[in-house]
Amino acid sequence: MIQLLPLGAVDKELVAWLAGELRGVFKTEVSVLPTIPIPQDCYSRRGQYNSSCIISKLGVKKRTLAVTSEDLYARGLNFVFGEAELGGLRAVVSYHRLKFGADREKLKERLLKEAVHELGHVFGLTHCKTPGCVMNFSSSVFEVDLKSSRFCKNCVSKIGMSP
Ligand SMILES: [Zn+2]
Ligand SMILES: [Zn+2]
Repeated sequence: MIQLLPLGAVDKELVAWLAGELRGVFKTEVSVLPTIPIPQDCYSRRGQYNSSCIISKLGVKKRTLAVTSEDLYARGLNFVFGEAELGGLRAVVSYHRLKFGADREKLKERLLKEAVHELGHVFGLTHCKTPGCVMNFSSSVFEVDLKSSRFCKNCVSKIGMSP
C-alpha cells in the first residue's frame, strides 16, 4: 500500500496517472490523498522549499510519497528532485525541474522514474550503479533520461518484489 499526497498546486491528472503507473511497478494498491498545502515554514528565501523539512512535517502511518510542483533543495545541494527516508515511510518528489525541455510525455516519464526512485529508498534501497537501474543517482534531467523506470534484478531481489 502506497499513498500519494499532493502538496499545494499540483497537476491532478499527472498525479492520477502516476498512481496508476506505480500500481503496476510496485504491484500494490496506490491511493491519492486529498491535497494539503505545502508547509510554508519549509520555504526558504532562496525561492525553494527544504525537502527534509517537508518530510518531517508529514504525519503519516503508511508509505507516502508527497508530490509537489515547487522547487526543492536540501542541505548542501542547490536542488533535489526528491528525498526519502531510507527504509521509512515518507518521501517527497518535485516535478519542477523535470519540466526542463520536456513535453507532457517526457515529463510523465521523468516523474515516474523519480517517484519510483524515491519509493525505492522508502523500501530500503540505496543508490545502485547498474546501468539503467532506476536507483541510479541522477543530478540532472539528462541523467534521469538515461535510466529506466525499473529496478535492476539486484534491486528487485533486495526488496523481494517480482520485476
Ligand atoms: Zn536517491
Ligand atoms: Zn539497481
